[in-house]
This record gives sequence, C-alpha cells and structure tokens, in this order.
Amino acid sequence: MKVDRHVRVRFAPSPTGPLHIGGVRSALYNYLFARKHGGTFILRIEDTDQQRYVPGSEEYIHESLSWLGLVPDEGPNHGGPFGPYRQSERKNLYTLWIDHLIERGHAYLAFDTPEELEQMRAEGLAQGLPSTSYDHNVRMRMKNSLTQTPEVIKQWLDEGRPYVVRLLIQPDQEIVVHDIIRGEVTFRTDILDDKVLMKADGLPTYHLANVVDDRHMEITHVIRGEEWLSSTAHHVLLYRAFGWEDYMPVFAHLPLILKPDGKGKLSKRDSSKSGIPVFPLDWNDDEENIHYSGFREKGFLPHATLNFLAFLGWNPGTEQELFTMKELTQVFDLEQVVKSGARFDYEKALWFNQQYIMHSDAVDLLKAVKSVLSKHSVEPLLPDDRLLTFIDLMKERVHTLEEFWTEGSYFFHAPGQYDDNGLRKKWNEANRTFLESSLIDLPEPEVASIWQDAIKEGIQKNQLKPGEIFSILRITMTGAMTGPDLFAMMAWLGKSEVLNRFKQLLDHLNEN
Ligand code: GLU
Repeated sequence: MKVDRHVRVRFAPSPTGPLHIGGVRSALYNYLFARKHGGTFILRIEDTDQQRYVPGSEEYIHESLSWLGLVPDEGPNHGGPFGPYRQSERKNLYTLWIDHLIERGHAYLAFDTPEELEQMRAEGLAQGLPSTSYDHNVRMRMKNSLTQTPEVIKQWLDEGRPYVVRLLIQPDQEIVVHDIIRGEVTFRTDILDDKVLMKADGLPTYHLANVVDDRHMEITHVIRGEEWLSSTAHHVLLYRAFGWEDYMPVFAHLPLILKPDGKGKLSKRDSSKSGIPVFPLDWNDDEENIHYSGFREKGFLPHATLNFLAFLGWNPGTEQELFTMKELTQVFDLEQVVKSGARFDYEKALWFNQQYIMHSDAVDLLKAVKSVLSKHSVEPLLPDDRLLTFIDLMKERVHTLEEFWTEGSYFFHAPGQYDDNGLRKKWNEANRTFLESSLIDLPEPEVASIWQDAIKEGIQKNQLKPGEIFSILRITMTGAMTGPDLFAMMAWLGKSEVLNRFKQLLDHLNEN
C-alpha cells in the first residue's frame, strides 16, 4: 500500500473493563502499520463515559501493552506533543467544537425528558415507522432548539433544564466510506439518527470526542474493529460539518473475532464457560464474582501471543506462520486483512506458544519458569544450572509455561500416582530382580549416556526386553509412560532419588 503522509495511528480503548483480545489485535495492527511506515503509534484513553468507567481498567490497558511490548510512541504514560492523551482531560476542546457546530447550525439542543423519548418510540412503533430513532422524521415534533423560539430556549437554559446536543442530519444524502479492507461502503443518511454529541453532564459522547481528537492528533489512518463501521457514517458527517473533509483519515475496519466453533462473536462468556483466555492478563470481575484467566497467566509468551493474534484476520499469503516482530512489521499489510470473521482457534494459540517455547533458549525462559515453579511452591528453587537442564529437557513437550509444572512436576517430587495398567503388563520377577540390583549399581558419574549403556548391557546379559525395562523405569520416575528422555531425566534426578523412587514404586505395588 502506498502511503504519502507521515503515518499517525491510534489505539483508542475505553477503560470500561479488561481489554478484550480483539482490542489487543487492534492495537497490534495499528502498531505494525505504524512501524511498517515509519509512523507514530498513539495510545488514547477514551474515558468520557463515566457511567461505564471501571476502576483498574486503564492500568490494565497499560500493563497489557507493556507485557506485549506494544509500547506507544505517544500516550498518557509516554507524553507527546498532542496531549493530553486521556479524553477526560480534554473537555475544553470538545466544548469549543460543539459550540462551533451549534453556531453553524450543524447541531442543536434537545431538552426531551426520558419519558418524552419513550413516548416518541412507542408512537413510532404504533405507527409502524421503519425506525424509532430521534431523526429527521421526528425531530420537528420534539422539544429542541429547532422547534422552539430562541426566547424559550434561553428560558429553559436559565432554569437549568437538562439538555443534550444532537447532530443535525439532513436526509437524502449519500455517504461513501472508502475502507481499506471493505472497499466502498455506502450509507444513506435517511436511516441515520441525530446522534447525541454532548450528554446532559456536559461530557462529549464517543462520536464527538473521537472525531475531534483524531483531527487534533493528526491521525492519518483509523484501524479499529468492525463494530465501529456503522458509526463511521456519523463520523464522516462530523468531518463535513467541521469543514475537515480534507483531513479525514483513511478507515480500515477489522473483522470480528468469532467463537472457537465459528458461531457468533467471541465473548467473555466463552472464557468463563470453557476456561480459554479471551483477555491478555488475568482479571477479577468483582461485580460478577468471576475470575477470567489471561494469556500471560496461562503461560503464553508475549511474542507467541502476538504471532497468534496477527493471524486473526490477516495472513501473509504464504505458508510461513512463525514471524518475529521485525518480520511482521515488514510483511504486514492492511490490504491483506480479510473481511470475514476470524475464528478464535485456541488450539492454534497453543501451537504458536509451543513453537516459541521450543525454539527459545532455556536461559530466556528461566525467569518465567522460576515464577511458575514458585507459584506452585517449589521452594527452595534449585540452582540455575539445574533448572536450565530441566527447561531443556521439557521445552519440546509443553504448550505453555504453566505446563513446565503441570507436565513436569515429577522433576521436583516423586509421582503420587502410577499408570498401573501400563505397569502390570511389564512387571515380572525377572524385571524386578534386575532393576533392584542394576539401579544400586548405577555407575558414577551421573551421566545419562553412561547410565544408559550400563542398563542396556545388563538387559542384554540377562536376556530381558528393553521395552519393558524402559517402561517400568519411566513409570517409576514420572508415574506415566510419557516424559522426556529417560536417562537424561534419571541423571538429572541423581542416583539417590532414582533409588528412592524405585523404593516408592515397590511400596505402591505392595499396597495394591
Ligand atoms: N473507544 C472506542 C473503543 O473502545 C474506540 C473505537 C475507535 O477506535 O474509534 O473501542
């Protein structure tokens, strides 16, 4: 895509709860687009809706972006020449521009009470009108500055009657939005309502603040979720009303993220129902008394999460799936983003994470693995060199950092349960006698290959079946038929622990 202006894009979340994974994808696409074009990535907090404000959610946004490394060039915590970057700190600007619209006849004051608005809707329904919104069909019947004399309006204002400011939309116009992803999207103004631009509390609505800020922050491209496409018609009208048409950003509306079964939009219910994370970080919803797990706490690496999210709605058109951030910024292109909904495939997320863990150097995973182990009270932690070997042995076998514990806890304590079925098939007197003596005789030093040679030699001499011996040893160490390289693990555990585990297995067999 050819871009000739200095690219300025913004991620503009509202602090109304935890940042949804779809929001993170919007942030990522904005970030990639900015990086690709040498542009600026801005974070703007859209916090003008006091009723929906949820304490802690702005901090959550900052922490999520910082965990993922999507660090804004400008934003509330980073400053910048276009600040402040929190809408609640920009009220004067909105008042200025709303006055401008009213003076030029593009907006009007509406004093209708909630009861009157309700009545209007009920009448609309009764008459079978196609829409029951506050629009060109009804506004001349309502209590507003279009229907009342300036004297009456003045009197109402003096009385302190509550009012909102609405955008005056003329019917019979066509609005064409050129969307990078969707092509030309046409709206007819006949079906648009006179949106509230300023609420009775004097604060702007999303539409007004969003457009004013995009203009003031010199935003060149608006990259956001599909749910905002229909609002874009109103935004274009606002650009026209302000006389800013020449500065209108280019729009790109990203596809919806669908549930894992592809049926409907992914929601937080999908997380509470099945435990899959739909938020980047853990979140406690105090009102609903629900704990939602995040990608971070589930044990995802930031880059794996980003790589997975990059593919939710975009693909490079080649077979390659694993991309570093640098590569992503090179190949990412908004024109290759698809229109249709992107299915949230959690298995695929796990696959990406597995790939990243597997290809990481143990030392780069050390800190994260230590914190997983501490969380599960593996104290005191072993020296780093032991943990690094543990990581190397396990990293090809896990999908998440958490699985270093859930799949590898037997490195830290003897298994509590055994695969008795597997064991029964392999267990006999000859195998038992052999293991009893050969484990005691395991030679120094505790090196996997030396132990392996010693055991193999013994198996041959006693004419036993290697498969049986190895299975029993595996079950002795891990409780199951699976696990990493057997002798490497045994050498890691050390001779006294190997003997201890064999004794525990014998105790278990005696008890059962
Ligand atoms: N504040 C809106 C949100 O929460 C921003 C939408 C936009 O990017 O224009 O998603």
